[in-house]
Amino acid sequence: MSRGTAVVTGASSGIGAATVVALARAGWRVVAGARREDRLREVAERAGARWMRLDVTDQASVDAFVAALDECAVLVNNAGGAYGLTPIAEADDEQWRRMYEVNVLGLLRMTRALLPLLERAAPGHVVNIGSIAATETYPGGAGYTAVKHGVRAVTRTLRQELLGRPVRVSEIDPGAVETEFSVVRLGSEERAAQVYAGMTPLTGEDIAECVLWVVERPPHVNVDELVVRPLDQVMGVPTMHRRT
Ligand code: NDP
Repeated sequence: MSRGTAVVTGASSGIGAATVVALARAGWRVVAGARREDRLREVAERAGARWMRLDVTDQASVDAFVAALDECAVLVNNAGGAYGLTPIAEADDEQWRRMYEVNVLGLLRMTRALLPLLERAAPGHVVNIGSIAATETYPGGAGYTAVKHGVRAVTRTLRQELLGRPVRVSEIDPGAVETEFSVVRLGSEERAAQVYAGMTPLTGEDIAECVLWVVERPPHVNVDELVVRPLDQVMGVPTMHRRT
């Protein structure tokens, strides 16, 4: 059974790729977008989905992607990530700027461009992939936690602005998910492996199941926020200074 068209950004790996597969398997007509075309094609062909190159930091790319759609009931704003893990004292402006561009402005560009089609779908649904970094902070993480706090602010504002109109707005906030996230952030497979050493992280498929559950609630139900962590992770890192 077809359930309408679902757009997934950042669909070439990790949570996005798993979401493409899960939605397509459930009968959604999925349109997958990301920059790495070879990876995207492989995911889309495996899922039976349509794909188009998409760079959410480039308004022209967003416009071309959206112009090729004639309907959209679900937008999963998943494209994003972290660059670097440096304390504020050594913060790199360019890394912060790139994080804001992809996580916040990318989400803005996609949402703004697709709102007319989402509203026409009645109900449409925007699902933003936030993070536990949307509500928590940790040393070295300020650039990323600042942008995910920003995503949360945009999500909540959008829900207020759309009150009375047929578009649902949800945010899913995962804890540690083993994807390419840490390789991108830290720049090496070895350093990324250390992030998940000795614990069992979530998988992209775990979060994809959450996306599917959120979009398949009855139309009058809006799941505002869904926080999902590995059993092995609780909030924060030890931040107590003890004088010995
Ligand atoms: P991955 O690095 O595996 O996936 C990130 C995806 O974003 C890739 O498909 C990448 O594709 C895409 N992307 C990056 N930049 C752009 C861009 N400019 N335009 C379009 N697509 C882009 O990481 P995850 O799957 O883990 O990350 C997905 C989301 O989940 C992110 O928003 C991340 O912040 C969030 N998240 C991740 C957590 C984790 O622990 N892994 C925890 C909480 C949230 P390409 O390079 O081909 O463009």
